[in-house]
Amino acid sequence: MNSIRWGLLGASDVAATRMIPAMRRLGHQVVAVGSQTPKWAATYAERNDIAAFGSVEDVVGRDDVDAVYISTINELHREHTELAAAAGKHVLCEKPLALSVDDGRAMLAACERAGVTLATNHHLPGSGIHRTIRQLVADGAVGRVLAVRVFHAVMLPARLQGWRLASREGGGVAMDITCHDASILNPLLGALPSDVVALAANQGPWGSAAEDALMSTMRYLDGTLVQTHDAFTIAHAPTGLQVLGSDGSIESRAAMVQEPVGTILLRDATGEREVEPEDRRDLYEISVAAFAAAVRGEGAPTATGLDGLRAIQVALAVREAVGSGHRVSITE
Ligand code: NDP
Repeated sequence: MNSIRWGLLGASDVAATRMIPAMRRLGHQVVAVGSQTPKWAATYAERNDIAAFGSVEDVVGRDDVDAVYISTINELHREHTELAAAAGKHVLCEKPLALSVDDGRAMLAACERAGVTLATNHHLPGSGIHRTIRQLVADGAVGRVLAVRVFHAVMLPARLQGWRLASREGGGVAMDITCHDASILNPLLGALPSDVVALAANQGPWGSAAEDALMSTMRYLDGTLVQTHDAFTIAHAPTGLQVLGSDGSIESRAAMVQEPVGTILLRDATGEREVEPEDRRDLYEISVAAFAAAVRGEGAPTATGLDGLRAIQVALAVREAVGSGHRVSITE
């Protein structure tokens, strides 16, 4: 299966702005879109040049759909994954994979039972920037990694100021942004943190139900420390990643964005030099191409279902630490 025939579950912004273009550039077909609102489904199909539309059930029931891309609101990811798996469709599900560890595990089990591929659409771990950073660390470029800092404080665009602010369960910065941080920290450090503390605030002018800014500190069993700053409220600040080691450091600017940009600066005893990543492809194209290869049995998705589950384990621990004011331990 070189070209996938996609069914979209969720008539969403990210599908229109990132995923449909990526699928089409790769020569895949977008066959149908399923939405909970029939009128919106029709409008969306026309705007995005998709021939068929209907309910989510209509789309998973189609014989001409090989795989579904799920970008419904976070509360519906489990239900829609289970529906698709039961219909024998491969699943590329948006992050956060689920809103609880039990839901995530149920999704993995449903796809395994059905014999279909499950991947999480984390766009960052497959990017050229993060693959290059992981390779530098694996090659010992900074010696022993002792600390990582993630700068992921951005301004939430006006068009996205809906459920992310209104929903206490599915919204909030921990499930939206910290979960992205975890998607790159987990493979970079090869483990989940053992302990997490975090504080959050509601800083925006929108009176949000969920936290819109947080800072977390994580400790790993080997003593590595991680800090993250995740926010919807900060204008004109670059995102970034610092990996700080016993023999050197890596500083990446614009590391946590949706475009294939970003720089990597390596500093060690010999001085500092810029490292150019080998791959500058669109991040969503990388995710879709790797998913298609995994469906063919050629390699793994850039983020598997299990990777998505591990990312929410971290994000949920951060959210629990915010809510309780206590240190939260993560057990795998
Ligand atoms: P949107 O708010 O654009 O879409 C979410 C749902 O809202 C849609 O599926 C649709 O429901 C409904 N909706 C949106 N617009 C309308 C409308 N005009 N009328 C009626 N219903 C509407 O969300 P996002 O695209 O921002 O996020 C969707 C998912 O993708 C989330 O899980 C998010 O976390 C993830 N995401 C991932 C990104 C990444 O880089 N990996 C980037 C951005 C988002 P229905 O299902 O009924 O069609």
